[in-house]
Amino acid sequence: MNRMIRTPYSRFVRRRPVWLRRLTPPVAQTPVQMTTIYAAGTNSSSQPVPTAAEPPTRHPALQPIPSGQTYRVTSPPEHSLVTPPLASALHQVFEEFARKNGFTAEQPLSIAFGRGTLGLHRLGRAADIYAVGAKGIGQWAHDWNSAMRQAATTPTPQERARLVAEEQARNLGYKLYKALQAHGGWAQPARYPVQLFGPWTRGEGPHKKISDQLLQAHRDHIHVAK
Ligand SMILES: [Zn+2]
Repeated sequence: MNRMIRTPYSRFVRRRPVWLRRLTPPVAQTPVQMTTIYAAGTNSSSQPVPTAAEPPTRHPALQPIPSGQTYRVTSPPEHSLVTPPLASALHQVFEEFARKNGFTAEQPLSIAFGRGTLGLHRLGRAADIYAVGAKGIGQWAHDWNSAMRQAATTPTPQERARLVAEEQARNLGYKLYKALQAHGGWAQPARYPVQLFGPWTRGEGPHKKISDQLLQAHRDHIHVAK
């Protein structure tokens, strides 16, 4: 039944028969299944990706992560739309973290998110932190690496320890990562590592065996999911 039709550009093309098919299975009670993305070779530690045929629309129950008394979210609300349990857990971590580091209601800590699209992001169960204290996570990681390189070339162990301790006390990106790690309770889907990744994951855990690919994907932000 193919026949020729005229396109808007006056070319004739053969029209293919259209098969109507059901595009998406019902999703209401579909459990989230996990699958692995294979981008560059086998990588067992990729982020889980829900395969439930749920469109990437925003669920009405999602909310932006709110500002607190001692910290301000400076990114647009749509960059941090998450489930209430994740919003509440991060609010708690940020408030405590900011207070401990000397930020106040008058001089709050700034935190910025970026929109994530893969895996648990599609369900609002993950957030990507891109900046803290008005500095990008990538820049904090760069500072950290420079300090560690400098420490490594120091002749005495005492001097090395002093330089490392100094950077650990100063670097807000590293400190926020450690605060998130200490808080715990983050998502760990079956057969996947704990969903806390960032530039410090290989050195600090929890998933020290993070692949080069996954580490590279988190060189400029901290991914956390609940
Ligand atoms: Zn993410």
